[in-house]
Amino acid sequence: MKNNQITSFIRDQFKTNNFIPLHEPRFRGNERKYVNDAIDSTFVSSVGAYVDRFESMIETISKTQKAVAVVNGTSALQVALRLSGVENGDEVLTQALTFIATINAIIYNGASPVFLDVDLDTMGLSPEAVENFLLENCEIRDGKCYNKKTNKKISACMPMHTFGFPVHIDKLVAICDKWNIALVEDAAESIGSLYKNKPTGSFGKLGVYSFNGNKVVTCGGGGVILTNDENIGIRAKHLTTTAKIPHPYEYVHDEIGYNFRMPNLNAALACAQLEQLDEFVENKRTLAKEYKKYFDTIGINFRTELEYTKANYWLMCIQFSDKKERDSFLKYSNDKKVMTRPIWQLIFKSSKYSKFQRDSQINAIYLEDRIVNIPSSVRL
Ligand SMILES: *Cc1c(COP(=O)(O)O)cnc(C)c1O
Repeated sequence: MKNNQITSFIRDQFKTNNFIPLHEPRFRGNERKYVNDAIDSTFVSSVGAYVDRFESMIETISKTQKAVAVVNGTSALQVALRLSGVENGDEVLTQALTFIATINAIIYNGASPVFLDVDLDTMGLSPEAVENFLLENCEIRDGKCYNKKTNKKISACMPMHTFGFPVHIDKLVAICDKWNIALVEDAAESIGSLYKNKPTGSFGKLGVYSFNGNKVVTCGGGGVILTNDENIGIRAKHLTTTAKIPHPYEYVHDEIGYNFRMPNLNAALACAQLEQLDEFVENKRTLAKEYKKYFDTIGINFRTELEYTKANYWLMCIQFSDKKERDSFLKYSNDKKVMTRPIWQLIFKSSKYSKFQRDSQINAIYLEDRIVNIPSSVRL
């Protein structure tokens, strides 16, 4: 009964009888103009004016000193962790309730994730869980944080702002400072979200946004590394462009770098999308208000932003009272061609990721059983 009501309400919001995706890109601005311009210039690949323009737009939006454009969010996370000081054999504190890229980026650096619980209110890494883990298991030696049980160095902590809802980032900043752990923000989903008026992605030593096709703004595929440390910014650019020493014609490389630079063609698309970021976020916030009003009337918890935060409402979600209700709604809505998805399965449940340390995960398990994403696209 409720399944039917909710599904029709969602359909009414998008005014169509066709399939309704979770998050569809919108190209309503200068996308064609800029992409054509990039083609006409012949600079479609790894150098070009749009890459510089994109980076400077991101610096303004994120209020950070330096933005470095790369091929996707996953590679941005990989390099951000490396530049934060993560080395082979280290451990990184993070959440199991996330998209797989967060964890893969840790493993690509030869490090191990430590899965800590999330908060029920943010669905992101819990400062209390981090602090409890550190107090119970860790000590400072020579100014660095070590896990006494594994004897490994904990070099970074990587929270993720789930669906664009900011985590309690100021508490995490304070804990990481105290324990001398680098904070790296996986802000892949939260471009345009603010915590106490400050953009997510700008709190850590480094931060990352993604421009994958399903995000609030997209350039097909893309990512960006953010930092307020000028030297790290220079290193990020150098490492992601094969670590070549600038020279008019000689090929000299002083490190084993990556070919992770964002092509100018994608940057052109990204510039046009960023021009519409504010409008997209406002459009989504209007939909969120309508959802909230409706779900209140039928007694279902539509997740909203916390006080002191502004969420971009990337993927909107509702919380059912148990897994059975959740599963029945998922089946019904998808059968009716209204796309809905459960929140991610906790990463340690996949066999290749089950060996890593974790705490009780009480909140993560609770949310895993109840949260469902509903269609959240910018409306025309
Ligand atoms: C989208 C996303 C990424 C990055 O994904 P790419 O597809 O590589 O750009 C990383 N972390 C999270 C949590 C994401 O949602």
